[in-house]
Amino acid sequence: MLFIGPPGSGKGTQAERISERLDVVAISTGDIFRANVKGETALGVEAKKYMDAGDFVPDSVTNKMVRDRLSEDDLGTGFLLDGYPRTIAQVDHLDEILATGEEKLDLVLQLTADDEELVHRLLGRAKETGRSDDNEAVIRHRLDLYHEQTEAVVAKYAERGILTQVDGIGAVDEVAGRLIAAIEA
Ligand code: AMP
Repeated sequence: MLFIGPPGSGKGTQAERISERLDVVAISTGDIFRANVKGETALGVEAKKYMDAGDFVPDSVTNKMVRDRLSEDDLGTGFLLDGYPRTIAQVDHLDEILATGEEKLDLVLQLTADDEELVHRLLGRAKETGRSDDNEAVIRHRLDLYHEQTEAVVAKYAERGILTQVDGIGAVDEVAGRLIAAIEA
């Protein structure tokens, strides 16, 4: 299963919930990058300059990281990818990985929310967490990239008939309920 949504749509929070509820591993590319930045690994040093500017980490770096993560043996009966793929090149790469294994994509969930609501939420989060990519100019740039590149990804999965859109506005429990209903459907 994939989780796609603009920055601030609650992807990470909801992916964790669904992962617990369904007992599947949640893999967040944003979290893996942040852990590497914190640990000052070579990958983290490389990724940080893009993340701070609100840019995508280059596909070559991101794709390799995801390939490595998906080759680990803790995936069990399935997995949920949060924040990947965000570009068409990443979709192609994921297709290649899946073509060589047993798994196939069952469902792509897209969380939707209005841009101004997202900017408002992210500015609130910036005060709480101090994330270095949560200031207004960077937030708007991340939203632009979502519209320019990730919406094409969403369109591709819609064409394949595996996309479900879920309204991301509301309390965490309310949105989680909508997601569970979408998965059950
Ligand atoms: P997130 O926590 O999902 O908002 O991701 C935080 C940052 O990590 C993004 O703004 C990008 O710089 C980077 N990142 C996460 N996932 C990807 C991806 N699939 N492709 C490129 N960059 C990514």
